[in-house]
Amino acid sequence: MNLSKVTNSISNLELSAKRKLGSVKLIAVSKVQPNEKIKVVLEEGHRCFGENRVQEAFGKWPSFRNNYDNIELHLIGPLQTNKARQAFELFNVIQTLDRVKLARSFASLAQEKGSSPKLFIQVNTGEEPQKAGIFPEQLDSFIKECRSMDLPIEGLMCIPPIDEEPSLHFSLLKKLQERNDVNSLSMGMSSDFETAIAFGATHVRIGSAIFGERIPTP
Ligand SMILES: *Cc1c(COP(=O)(O)O)cnc(C)c1O
Repeated sequence: MNLSKVTNSISNLELSAKRKLGSVKLIAVSKVQPNEKIKVVLEEGHRCFGENRVQEAFGKWPSFRNNYDNIELHLIGPLQTNKARQAFELFNVIQTLDRVKLARSFASLAQEKGSSPKLFIQVNTGEEPQKAGIFPEQLDSFIKECRSMDLPIEGLMCIPPIDEEPSLHFSLLKKLQERNDVNSLSMGMSSDFETAIAFGATHVRIGSAIFGERIPTP
């Protein structure tokens, strides 16, 4: 397991970017990983995890929660509106809010339950048609709309196009953060978290560098 390698590297990057130690949160992305590997990371004391599918997450996390305290789960994959209720039950943070229909559904769930997971808005910084996320030019008005529904907008999230320089996208997300006065920035994965931290990431989502390569699903 490479958890300590990754956490050490995050600390070093915080220092070299003149950021406060501990200001970057590590989300260990456990999608598709076998339970034994996740258990090792839990035993090492790590508690913050990311999953990209609601169904898959329901298959493993309720029982881990029975055995380990204070697990914080982030949904980092696209969410269908008809799974919003389930996602509200399981996740502490939902990072993939990206459209009005989903925001409305969150707002009515929040009202019903009296609370809501923290929310990040996914921004499609590369404007890729196949990718989820709201386009940058629509973000400001979308945030206003979400805030008018009293949704707790905690941050912005992006996944840069694989064939482009990630720093362009990280700096764009940072600019959008400042303009809209949101707290957090979820950006950076195994291959580019160094750059993301230099550009102001507060949350990095790291899978393969901790757990090893994912076994591809058939
Ligand atoms: C899988 C995934 C990650 C982690 O990717 P690695 O390259 O394994 O670190 C991060 N963010 C999202 C949205 C993902 O789906």
